[in-house]
Amino acid sequence: MAEPGVEKKKRVVIIGGGVGGSLLCKTLQKHRDFDFTLIDPKEYFEITWARLRSMVEPSFAKRSVINHHEYLQGASIITSDANGIEDAEVSTTEGRLISYDYLVIATGHMGSKCVTRTEKLREYEADNEKIKSSESILIIGGGPTGVELAGEIAVDFPTKKVKLVHKGSRLLEFIDEKASKKVLDWLTIKKVEVILGQSVDLTSRSDDNTYKTSDGETIMADCHFKCTSDPIASSWLKDSILKDSLTDSGRLMVDANLRVKGFDNIFAIGDITDIAELKQGYLAQKHALVVAKNLVVLINGGNEGNMVKYTPASPMAIVSLGRKEAVAQISCVTMIGRIPGMLKSKDLFVGKTRKLLGLKA
Ligand SMILES: Cc1cc2nc3c(=O)[nH]c(=O)nc-3n(C[C@H](O)[C@H](O)[C@H](O)COP(=O)(O)OP(=O)(O)OC[C@H]3O[C@@H](n4cnc5c(N)ncnc54)[C@H](O)[C@@H]3O)c2cc1C
Repeated sequence: MAEPGVEKKKRVVIIGGGVGGSLLCKTLQKHRDFDFTLIDPKEYFEITWARLRSMVEPSFAKRSVINHHEYLQGASIITSDANGIEDAEVSTTEGRLISYDYLVIATGHMGSKCVTRTEKLREYEADNEKIKSSESILIIGGGPTGVELAGEIAVDFPTKKVKLVHKGSRLLEFIDEKASKKVLDWLTIKKVEVILGQSVDLTSRSDDNTYKTSDGETIMADCHFKCTSDPIASSWLKDSILKDSLTDSGRLMVDANLRVKGFDNIFAIGDITDIAELKQGYLAQKHALVVAKNLVVLINGGNEGNMVKYTPASPMAIVSLGRKEAVAQISCVTMIGRIPGMLKSKDLFVGKTRKLLGLKA
């Protein structure tokens, strides 16, 4: 309880310590006017766009998998899934109730099953062993994860036979058709076989390492990597006070100030929002900075009209293709090769992201 005459600090709870949630917490830590608590099922934050490099070079993950306590020293962090929201309380799967005055939902996508950083680093070692010990590798999914993994393996292990099966009619459907075609050509030159318009039934895998596709084709591969996108982490909201603020596709409707529609004290950021723009980490970071400013306005009793408004961004995406090249779409211009590669592919923005969190690059 607060001492008489001393006003109790407002409590902000952030659910989800991914790209948006981690930067929001780091930004809020500079403010002494309120207390914040982060709830995340993992003890660490992972820079998602470094994942595929970590599979071909496991030591890369030492900089991209960062314990929450490393960049949020002294902060209140609860390692658990949130599983319910009431008017002033969040519940967690381990049975805790955490009170809030302001709440931010940043649960983006279902995260990794590894709880500790050590487990996660070991997982990359195991993936790397799997790649090294296989002559033929099947990649399932032709979105950014599948394409980036195919690029990493093709560049670092050019003698491996890589097949990529994608159920859509083109790779990287979230960006322009011209960019998809350029990526298909790039992969073909690197001897990656791309099969479009088919899916792989993983239950069909037999002991002789054969897989069946939806068209009945047989693929032989020593191992496979499933690179289909993780679902949006919002099913836990369906029985909460936010259930009527979810779209049919499970995203949270937000207003221009990034408050969840119908709530004055609940915000949402990142991939879980229904903002009409590409779902990208650098945009989740922008949302985080907008919400940090708006929380400061509200907590200091400012006029709601002074809150910052978020403007949806025009399309911009860079997908790396190994260590030196990439494909980029900036508005309606697409580019492939070393020039976009110079922007992303060497360090994959890891140093930049670490600096944002106040860490050495
Ligand atoms: C291979 C790949 C490459 C990419 N490359 C780029 C790129 O180059 N540039 C770019 O800008 N974007 C890129 N992206 C997209 C980017 O990763 C996402 O847009 C970004 O991660 C979204 O951030 P977020 O904070 O909304 O959610 P996430 O980063 O997905 O974080 C969600 C967090 O919520 C946690 N969580 C989930 N459920 C619960 C729960 N019930 N309770 C508590 N916590 C929960 C998760 O464990 C996780 O920590 C890439 C994505 C992939 C997969």
